Amino acid sequence: MEVARVIVDAPLPQPLDYAAGELGPAALHAGTPVFAPLGARSVAGIVVGRAAAPSIDVAKVRPLRALIADVAPLPDDWLQFTRFAADYYHCGWGEIAVPALPPALRKITGADPAKRVLALRKRYPGRAAESAPSAGPPVTLREEQRVAVDAIVAALGGFAPFLLFGVTGSGKTEVYLHAIAAALAADPAAQVLLLVPEINLTPQLEALLRSRFPGEPVVSQHSALADGERTAAWLQAHEGRARIVVGTRLAVFAAVPHLRLIVVDEEHDPSLKAGDGVRFSARDLAVKRAQMLRLPVVLGSATPSLESWAAAQAGRYRLLALAQRAGGAAKVEAPGAEGTAGGTSGLGVPGGTGATAESVGAPARVVAVDVRAHPPEHGLSGPLRSALAATVARGEQALVFINRRGYSPVLACDACGWLSNCPRCSTFAAYHKRDAVLRCHHCGWQQRVPRACPTCGNQDLQPVGQGTQRLEETLREMLPQARLARIDRDSTRRKGAAAATLDAVHAGDIDILVGTQMIAKGHDFRRVSLVCVLNADAQLLATDFRAPERLFATLAQVSGRAGRAGQPARVLLQTRYPDHPLYVALARHDFAGFARQQLAERRATHLPPFVHAALLTAQARAMETATTLLELGRELALPLAPQGMNLYDPVPMPLERVDNEHRAQMLIESPRRPALHAFLREWLPALRAAIAERKLRARWHLEVDPASI
Ligand code: ADP
Ligand code: ZN
Ligand code: ZN
Repeated sequence: MEVARVIVDAPLPQPLDYAAGELGPAALHAGTPVFAPLGARSVAGIVVGRAAAPSIDVAKVRPLRALIADVAPLPDDWLQFTRFAADYYHCGWGEIAVPALPPALRKITGADPAKRVLALRKRYPGRAAESAPSAGPPVTLREEQRVAVDAIVAALGGFAPFLLFGVTGSGKTEVYLHAIAAALAADPAAQVLLLVPEINLTPQLEALLRSRFPGEPVVSQHSALADGERTAAWLQAHEGRARIVVGTRLAVFAAVPHLRLIVVDEEHDPSLKAGDGVRFSARDLAVKRAQMLRLPVVLGSATPSLESWAAAQAGRYRLLALAQRAGGAAKVEAPGAEGTAGGTSGLGVPGGTGATAESVGAPARVVAVDVRAHPPEHGLSGPLRSALAATVARGEQALVFINRRGYSPVLACDACGWLSNCPRCSTFAAYHKRDAVLRCHHCGWQQRVPRACPTCGNQDLQPVGQGTQRLEETLREMLPQARLARIDRDSTRRKGAAAATLDAVHAGDIDILVGTQMIAKGHDFRRVSLVCVLNADAQLLATDFRAPERLFATLAQVSGRAGRAGQPARVLLQTRYPDHPLYVALARHDFAGFARQQLAERRATHLPPFVHAALLTAQARAMETATTLLELGRELALPLAPQGMNLYDPVPMPLERVDNEHRAQMLIESPRRPALHAFLREWLPALRAAIAERKLRARWHLEVDPASI
C-alpha cells in the first residue's frame, strides 16, 4: 500500500504515514500542503515524499483529509532547506516547515481549498499595476559603493557571502537597491529576498522599493499583516509573481522559487534570532540557503555581529566596506582626537563645536561624561543639562536615550527597606506613575501603587532610579518651554502612536525626544544635534557574553541618529567608566578595534565564535524540578560526550524566576561543530525519552548557537 510521508508541527523524529484516500495520487506529491488526521484532531502538514509501504501496521494508516489549497507543491529545494534547518536546530522537520505556511492556510475550515485561494487571488492580483510613485532622481554611486555593487553582481549565479560594513548613512541601502536591480535585470523570472529585523521597518523599506522599482511587484511577509494579505503575499512569492520579497525572520523560509539574491539588513540585530519556538537564526539560515541554492547573500551592518566579523576576517565572507557617509565628504577623526580622557571640559558651551563646512556628514562626536565628577540629579548630570538647554535654545533637536520604561524601576520604603518586588519574578516591579501601578515588565503582573508601605505603613514611598516617564517629567520641569515627546512601549501601545510622534519629530514640532532603544532603529532624525545616553553602564556590567557587543551596536546606532543633515552633532554618554575600552572605541568610531579586542577576549575565554555552543534550558514550578531535568541531561550526556566537549554544571538563569517558573540552564560547548551536532543527535532522543519516563513536570528547550548565556 503506497503512502504519503507527511510532516506536521510536532517534535517528531520521522514523518507520518497516510493514505491518499479520496485525494488521489496528487496527494502523494512531495511538497503538497495537506490536512491530516492526528489523534482526534485535523492538522496542517506537508507531504515530503512517498513510500511503497507504510512503516506502521497497514490497518492503522489513516487517509489524508484534504489538500490545504489549490497551490503548486513546495519545491524540492525548499523541502531540503527546511530539512537542513530542522536537523541543525534539532527539532522536528514539521516544527520548522509547517509554521512557515501562512496561518490562514493552516487553519481548518470547511471551505473548498480551490475557492479559498481563488478569492485571495482576486483580491490581491499581484502583478496588476499598483500606482507607481515617482522613482526620484537616480543616485550616482560613490566609488566604494560601485565596488561593492560590482562585486555582488559579479557573484550572481554562485554562492558568495558578503559582509557589507558601513556606518548608518554610508549608503548600504543604496548598494542593496543596485544589486537587486542587477539581479532582477539578469533574469525575467528572478526574485530577491530582503530580510530585516523589525516589523516596523518593513513599510518604510517596502515604500522605498516600490518607488525604486515601479512596476515590480513587492510583497512583505511578517506577522503583523492581516491574514488575507499575509496569505496573498505568501502565494505571490510562491508563485513567482512577487519579484521582491521583504520580511522579518520567518521570511527566511518564504517559498521563493526563483531566488537569485538574499540581503540581510542589520545582520547583527538580535531580533533575527527567534526568541521562542524553534530558536533559529534567520541570518545564519539565509547564508545556508544561499549556499544550497548557489547565490550571493549580502549581510549589511554598521556594527556586524562578531560571528560575521570573524568570518570576514578569516576570509570566509567577503568584506565590502563603506568608509564614508553619504551626506558629504566624511571627516575621519584622528584616533583619540575626541576621546574621553579630557573629561567634559567645554561641554554646554553653546555653539562650542562650531558649524564648519568640512564637518558636513561627519560622524557625531562622542564624549563620555564622568558621573563621578558630575553627579547626576534625577538622572541628569550638569553637562547634559546645559547641553540640552543650549540645544533647545539654538532651535535644534535632542534625543535622550534610556533603556528603561516606566517612571522608576523600583519603588522603595526608606523606613524599613521594603522594595517593590514582583511576587511572581525574581525582579522588581516598575513604578508607573501615570497609571498609578506597579508593573512587572517580565510577567505583566500589576497592582495599584500602595498608599503606604505594605510592611511598616510608612506613607512616603520613594521612586528609585530613572525610567523614561520620570526623565520626561524632570525635563519638563527643567525646560518648561521645550516641546517634549516620549517613545517607549507604553507610549506607543496605541496603533500609529509611534509613527505620529516620529512624524512630529521630523516636522520639527518636537525639541526633545525621550525614549528607549525604540528610538534607535531605522529613523533618520535629520535635525537632531545632541544625543544624551543615560545608564549605558548597566549593560556594560551585564553578565551575558554578548552584552558588550549589543551595547556597542545600540550606542553606535543611537549616535548615528544625530547630525545626518550636516549640523555638528554630539553624543554625551553618562558613565562611571569613561576610560572603558568599549566607550573609547565608540568615541573613535572604531568598530574594528572594538571587535579585535572582543574577539581576543572570546578566544581566550572559549566563547563563540571560537567554540560552538548549545544551551539546555528547563523551567518548572520548583527550581528542584528544573535542576533535576538538567542533572538528568548531564548524566545521560557524560557517556556520549566526545573528547574536548565541555558539559557545564546546571545553573539558575540570571533572572531565576519569571511568572512563578524557576529557570535553570546547562551549557554545552565544543570546539568542533560536527562533533557537537553528532552528540546532540544521540543525546536529545535519549533525554526526551528519559523525561517522559520520569514524568518530569518541567518545560525545556534546547537552543543551538544560544543568543545569550
Ligand atoms: P545606510 O543604509 O547605510 O544607512 P543609505 O543607503 O540609506 O545608508 O544612504 C543614506 C542616505 O544617503 C540616503 O538618503 C541615500 O539616498 C543617500 N545616498 C546614498 N548613496 C548616495 C550616493 N551615492 N549619492 C547621493 N546620495 C546617496
Ligand atoms: Zn516600610
Ligand atoms: Zn513578574
